[in-house]
Amino acid sequence: MARVTEDEVRSALSAVIDQDTGQNLIDSNMISGLVVKDGNVGFAIEVDPKAGAAKEPLRQAAEAAVNALSGVLSVTAVLTAHQAAGNTAQAPQSAPKPAGREQASSPDIPGVGTIIAVASGKGGVGKSTTAANLALALAALGQRVALLDADIYGPSVPRLLALKGKPETDGNQLWPKEQYGIKCMSIGLLIEEDTPMVWRGPMVQSALEQMLRQVAWGEIDVMVIDMPPGTGDAQLTLTQRAPLAGAVIVSTPQDLSLIDARKGLNMFKKVDVPILGIVENMSYFVCGNCGHRTDVFSHGGARNEAEKLGVPFLGDIPLDIAIRESSDDGKPIVVAEPDGVHAKAYQAIAQSVLDQLAGSTRQAPRIVMQ
Ligand code: ADP
Repeated sequence: MARVTEDEVRSALSAVIDQDTGQNLIDSNMISGLVVKDGNVGFAIEVDPKAGAAKEPLRQAAEAAVNALSGVLSVTAVLTAHQAAGNTAQAPQSAPKPAGREQASSPDIPGVGTIIAVASGKGGVGKSTTAANLALALAALGQRVALLDADIYGPSVPRLLALKGKPETDGNQLWPKEQYGIKCMSIGLLIEEDTPMVWRGPMVQSALEQMLRQVAWGEIDVMVIDMPPGTGDAQLTLTQRAPLAGAVIVSTPQDLSLIDARKGLNMFKKVDVPILGIVENMSYFVCGNCGHRTDVFSHGGARNEAEKLGVPFLGDIPLDIAIRESSDDGKPIVVAEPDGVHAKAYQAIAQSVLDQLAGSTRQAPRIVMQ
């Protein structure tokens, strides 16, 4: 039997009408995070938080419509509550100041100042390693920092920071984990490891909402979000979910990943989030025995590319076994060797990020609900 395609699913959903608006689910842009894999279909339906459970019949109708297609093995639709349009999402935010104590809170996340994303066009380029070390370097510069791991496909912050156990909760709020002076939360602590990939897309959106708004973050100057790699629907929705002040793109020097990095840049441009800059990771090779430096293939590609694209180049980090080993040990290099060259390199990147934020005059990203 032929498996159902994404187009067929979309077409079925375009026949499901939201009685409150008279519009179908596709035209009204209510579907997000659609995943179609081997006959298993998952998606989220975005509804006004005020409508909440009243939309359950709509959810069931959507599920039934997709279920009726041939080649469908299972369907999971979840309702996700979005911020009301025209509410905080549209409210202009004053230019982000250098993340500092006097800074105003993000419009809808009490206590949290600036939120930045660390993203990459594809997996394996060192995005999580960079996010963790950047967060710790920002803390070393005196910022109050949170690290939020939203990488559904491979949440690595629990391993990188040796976090253990489920977060504590009072039934209302979750408590962030604290490690090396920063507060952390990871989707890896919230969903079971064996959750099938096909469910993760839809789940991450409600999980991100929860991690942003139901975690007792306290007072935070800069929150760093470790994004899922790639530039698909799930990533795009995430960038719209959080009031991002900017994005850091991690790339290796190889041309291929630079093409991917470019896709990442375009994704953020689409949603009007400024690019704070590109970090070239695994930029050159430092021999673990003799300390000799060797350039790797296409070294400097990210710097050239950044120049071409007119975005800042934030710095380069070598391929060094010490960076990998410290990560594997649950103590990233910035805290394992705080006076070493790598810690200095991450701090320089962190300082550039703060400078970029200080210079930025943008307004809050708009979340458009039609
Ligand atoms: P991503 O988040 O992009 O998938 P990770 O941060 O998990 O990538 O890194 C992938 C692997 O590469 C990990 O084993 C990590 O320890 C290693 N790694 C990342 N950056 C470096 C580096 N600069 N030098 C050496 N190893 C690195």
